[in-house]
Parts: sequence; structure tokens; C-alpha cells
Amino acid sequence: MENCDNCNDEVGHVWKYRRPTETMTYWREERRCASCHPRIQERFGQAGT
Ligand SMILES: [Zn+2]
Repeated sequence: MENCDNCNDEVGHVWKYRRPTETMTYWREERRCASCHPRIQERFGQAGT
């Protein structure tokens, strides 16, 4: 099991999520579960809520 960096939930799988920092000098890499990862939400959020 792995932990999501955003909600801290223990999930079966996390995806790497790179987001720009405030300074934009480097990308902060986080590990996010499906419900926290915007790209994964696009793929699995079929209801579009
Ligand atoms: Zn999460």
C-alpha cells in the first residue's frame, strides 16, 4: 500500500503528479491517489461531477 501525498489516504496505487511551485523554478512531484489526481479524475470521472 502507498500513501497519497494530498489526502494521506492509504491506497493501492498512487500516480506521480508534477505541479509547478510558486516560484516555477522547479516542479514538485507528489504521489496522488485516483481521487486527488486531476488527470486520473478526467479518465475515470465519467459522471463529470
Ligand atoms: Zn488522495
